[in-house]
Amino acid sequence: MKAILFHEHGGPEVLSFSELETPTPEPGEVLVRLQAAALNRLDLWARQGWPGLKLQLPHIPGADGAGEVAALGAGEEGWSAGERVVINSNLSCGVCEACLAGQDNRCSKWELLGETRRGTYAEYIVVPAKNLLRVPDGFSLQSAAAAALAYHTAWHSLITRGGLQPGETVLIVGAAGGVNTASLQIAKLAGAVTYVVGSDARKLDFAASLGADYLIDRSKEANWARTVFQLTNRRGVDVVVDNVGTTFPLSFRSARKGGRILTVGNTGGAVFEIDNRYIFSKHLSLIGSTMGTQHDFRRVMALVFAGRLAVPVDRVYPLAEARQAQEYLAAGEQLGKIVLDNQA
Ligand code: ZN
Repeated sequence: MKAILFHEHGGPEVLSFSELETPTPEPGEVLVRLQAAALNRLDLWARQGWPGLKLQLPHIPGADGAGEVAALGAGEEGWSAGERVVINSNLSCGVCEACLAGQDNRCSKWELLGETRRGTYAEYIVVPAKNLLRVPDGFSLQSAAAAALAYHTAWHSLITRGGLQPGETVLIVGAAGGVNTASLQIAKLAGAVTYVVGSDARKLDFAASLGADYLIDRSKEANWARTVFQLTNRRGVDVVVDNVGTTFPLSFRSARKGGRILTVGNTGGAVFEIDNRYIFSKHLSLIGSTMGTQHDFRRVMALVFAGRLAVPVDRVYPLAEARQAQEYLAAGEQLGKIVLDNQA
């Protein structure tokens, strides 16, 4: 099969379009012929590598994928060749304490496609059968792949971990990326009032098109926490979605007393200073999470399939041009998701 590989960590130049043996499904597994893969920032980080990351090299990037069932492992039932599926990229053991509690994204043997296992930038992939979800007829496989990890992650953070309630106010730091796009729409669907901080008018127009109630342009208002305070009559917001990290000082100031700060990542860098006085004096809760559970995946994808959550796709690249796709992602100018056509 054709696949995008890297043999060593580094910049986009380490990616190569190569031939690799098509994997064979074992019992409990399914071979999927991928039609679409979507990009996530973690693809860039896995390619660059980080201390302690141990990958089987050459590695195939990519967590998100959708396609058709191509073959079943011995004894596997419940799927037939040609069925259209989207992949939950979170792999879990199913038997540890966390898995039995329904918290499979905290599994002691948790793995992620494209991070610790070979991923979806390929013509085929083998995954556990339990990680597949049927895609309804007529629903685009590109949209299904584009939604999977970002919408799953946003749902788990806002709803499962964040306990978002109707009528609450939510500030989202960032206007156009995959998780922020999902968070905005999930917050609206949950009945929240939304505030979005974006880097320019183009991205804020995009957020407005997805239902954002209040727009704050940080190129004009560097101290956007002050703007949030003014817009909320000096109360602050109930919930801040901050996946930038380095913006925590402003997020802390934007939250109301007793507010929650939700984080699933740190696009601005992993290490930064915070002023602890904000956390205790404002009774703030800092709620971290990563990815989501099987239950979350099914709930959020049902809303995606029903058209309740839109999945904006910015650009589609042929699989062979994954390098250009990653460079476009790294530039940070996309509105919504970047997708690969795995059979192009
Ligand atoms: Zn487990």
